Amino acid sequence: MAVKRDYYEVLGVSRSASAEEIRRAYRRLARQYHPDINKDPEAEERFKEINEAYEVLSDEQRRAAYDRFGHAGVGAGVGTGGFEAGMGADPFGFGSPFSDLFETFFGGMTMGTRRRPSRGADLEAEVWLDFAEAIFGAEKEIKIERLELCPDCRGTRTRHGAQPSVCPVCGGTGQVRHYHNTILGQMVTATTCNHCGGEGRVVTDPCPTCRGRGRTVRTRTLSVTVPPGVEDGVTLRLTGEGEHAPGGVPGNLYVRVRVRPHEYFRREGAQIYLDLPVNIVQAALGAEIEVPTVDGPVRFTLPPGTQSGQQFRLRGKGAPDLKTGQRGDQVVTVRVVTPTNLTPRQRALLEELAETLEQPDLRETHRKGFFDKIKDALGV
Ligand SMILES: [Zn+2]
Ligand SMILES: [Zn+2]
Repeated sequence: MAVKRDYYEVLGVSRSASAEEIRRAYRRLARQYHPDINKDPEAEERFKEINEAYEVLSDEQRRAAYDRFGHAGVGAGVGTGGFEAGMGADPFGFGSPFSDLFETFFGGMTMGTRRRPSRGADLEAEVWLDFAEAIFGAEKEIKIERLELCPDCRGTRTRHGAQPSVCPVCGGTGQVRHYHNTILGQMVTATTCNHCGGEGRVVTDPCPTCRGRGRTVRTRTLSVTVPPGVEDGVTLRLTGEGEHAPGGVPGNLYVRVRVRPHEYFRREGAQIYLDLPVNIVQAALGAEIEVPTVDGPVRFTLPPGTQSGQQFRLRGKGAPDLKTGQRGDQVVTVRVVTPTNLTPRQRALLEELAETLEQPDLRETHRKGFFDKIKDALGV
């Protein structure tokens, strides 16, 4: 590394490459040259070079400095072994911003066998409720499969729960340091220890139950308390009910609530809507009727002369607000059902009635508010 290659050349991108192009190029090359994957002896050097280039070019300010002043502008390549202490001794090791990226790229391949996650993965589940359960709340059971600490080794991954031994390659640090003599002085780089995967410990006598993984898949039935007032699509968090992590905290379980639609109730927030059919005589003369609500049927006095489409409000018969617990209303929309299949007698009665009725006045029915005369606010 005595002579540094141009960072753009290293990543194989043009000087005008966008941040996204640089990121993509980096990801591709990092995968290709990662020492865990690529056993070519030159891969490791190449890998470091790629990371160094990316560290500079992915940072807007450092990239600008590099564009103007070259390698000198970003102070790269001079370690503390020499005469400049500005960069720190470990420019490409664990402390660098891209160690997180490594977890992202390679964590999936090594997780569970070598890298020890500090927090278990989050899980997702779904629970279905009836319309009324969403309104009054419910206790539901759900079945999940999750990784839990192995019951035999308790996550230590070794037989009989003994602690894993110190990695003989890195001496427990999880990092391997490389010293390079350059004309500018000695340069130090550190990479993740291949032998232990950066953990500093290795399992020589793996637990037979989990085969050294430290975790096993368990099926659990959990009780979920669904609060009154939830709506379709709401997500409940069950803290710590996700997957377990050896030496770390468990993840969370996110339960998505689904509500089955009701045969005739419809809900919008705290409001419940119901279309209520009445016959022409009930609408004309008024009637004592029963109206279904989620609390059971209630008596309701339909006033004489009720129009189709007219709405009434049953106070406190809606759904509770999730926060305040205060219940909304049930809005009843009257639908006047015109009779069909009349018997001869019904026909005769209606014909008699017809002689006394006139065609409704167009101007009268178009008077403002006739058809949308709503909210009579007859509370029950
Ligand atoms: Zn085990
Ligand atoms: Zn090691």
